[in-house]
Amino acid sequence: MDRRGFLSVATAAATASLWLPEVVNSADSASAAGFVKPRYPQSVIWGLTNKASRVAWTVDDGASETALHNYIDFLHKTGTRLTFFVVANNRPWRTLRRELLPLVRSGQVQLANHTKSHPDLTKLQGWQIRRELTECANFIEGEYGVKPAPIFRPPYGYYDDRVLREAAAGGYRSCVMWYGTLGDGSNISASERLKLARTWMTAGHVVIGHANQPTAPTDLLKIRQIIDGRGLHTVTLDDIWRS
Ligand SMILES: [Zn+2]
Repeated sequence: MDRRGFLSVATAAATASLWLPEVVNSADSASAAGFVKPRYPQSVIWGLTNKASRVAWTVDDGASETALHNYIDFLHKTGTRLTFFVVANNRPWRTLRRELLPLVRSGQVQLANHTKSHPDLTKLQGWQIRRELTECANFIEGEYGVKPAPIFRPPYGYYDDRVLREAAAGGYRSCVMWYGTLGDGSNISASERLKLARTWMTAGHVVIGHANQPTAPTDLLKIRQIIDGRGLHTVTLDDIWRS
């Protein structure tokens, strides 16, 4: 990652968080009380603007059908709100569509753009970056009827100023990073992942996980128990910001 780019966007994100109004209570009660959600910022998102008792659990890729099935089953059973960052080329987003669709329609689950084929965007030309984002968006809208703009997550978290500019030109002004990981982008034991969940599932964090290797339903329930034990609520990113 380009360090200067990293610092400039990190500064922009920090500045943005100073002026963004805070959301009160949940998205529903906020709108009911007359509060307007802030717009997604034109910057990199590292955490939630309102840190009070909320955590954004995000899950990327979806390479494993078993993992994604277990996540969907868990979401149905627990009501957990979660944002999936979809790689359109991964088949489980097609094969599990019927299971996932009701959760997307209700807003419990948000589908976001993680590109079509998961390349390192810093290595691509501008038109290729925009095509990766557009084709993922077309897939999500075609299968699920929702538009993922204006947020995206760059594969591997790799971005620079040029990627941000190209993405913004294509309608993706918010680059969603994370502040805490479940460590399951590669092989990890269930106990290690649970330890990371205890570390990072805290108020205001955006936490990243992956649906790439089979994840036992009981492990997901244990993570939810950590969240509940701390009095936290799960939110999607759309619960915090608006397009
Ligand atoms: Zn990824």
